[in-house]
Amino acid sequence: MTSNKICFIGAGNMSRSIISGLVNSGYQPELIEATNPSTPKLDALKADFAINTSSDNSAAAARADVIILSVKPQLMQQVCEAMSGVDFSNKLIITIAAGIPAARYQDYFGQPIQLIRVMPNTPMQIGAGMSGLYAPANINDEQKAIAEVIVKTGGDAVWVDDEHGLNLVIALAGSSPAYFFLFVEGMVDAATQMGMDAEKARQLAQQAAFGAARMLIENPQLSAAQLRQNVTSKGGTTHEAVETFKQGDLPGLTAKAMANCIARAEEMA
Ligand code: NAP
Repeated sequence: MTSNKICFIGAGNMSRSIISGLVNSGYQPELIEATNPSTPKLDALKADFAINTSSDNSAAAARADVIILSVKPQLMQQVCEAMSGVDFSNKLIITIAAGIPAARYQDYFGQPIQLIRVMPNTPMQIGAGMSGLYAPANINDEQKAIAEVIVKTGGDAVWVDDEHGLNLVIALAGSSPAYFFLFVEGMVDAATQMGMDAEKARQLAQQAAFGAARMLIENPQLSAAQLRQNVTSKGGTTHEAVETFKQGDLPGLTAKAMANCIARAEEMA
């Protein structure tokens, strides 16, 4: 672990997830600071993790080595512009905002900066996150390692070569927990309509999802298609269900959903 002072600008859900990961993996709380305009979230973070808090973004950024920008994308420009008086020449900035291209932050801050874009997802809250990272050409290996260590305290992470890759990360990992929730929601609704108790239906569906995810993770040599074929005997019950999904073009619908997700990320840029 590094001994960098880390400052979170914005103390919302994602900051809480990352702070939790950092503290739980042994990062010293006194090296972490979070800012927010209102105090309740700061008080809760202080109580839960013993980190420092402030409502002054510029003062907190000036004290830090690594600044993690974690406000909503629509607020990002005004928040960065208000910090442009801080000298960022020896600091690493990490932004987790969706959509905004890396190059635009230099305009916001009005000075040369070193910035890495990270696209996390909400399972980071429980240490099971999956993030994508993108570093422009001016970022060195040491800075990349700092960002990777921070992000990996909340789960796994991969580097992508360009910002289009980050939009693919949004479609594959950032937004996809909701796809899986939707699928479980549909299974539970169907089961309850067919007479099963909702709690039991959820228990069955969620454990099946967990088991399927573990089989994927623990058998990297087998493709998802191979794992599916292994449990789908022709003429059997699983075959019947899978064929129904294929007739409804689940693969095509999945591709369309991901394309629309990416298009939305591009619109937000
Ligand atoms: P959030 O819970 O709304 O957190 C944003 C925080 O920023 C709020 O606590 C807000 O405070 C604070 N804030 C507002 N104005 C501020 C200012 N001037 N200075 C400092 N803080 C300010 O949102 P989130 O879900 O954590 O998302 C944060 C970022 O993560 C977004 O850019 C989003 O695109 C990105 N992201 C989110 C997810 C996700 O699944 N949630 C996934 C990937 C990336 P108040 O509430 O008191 O106004």
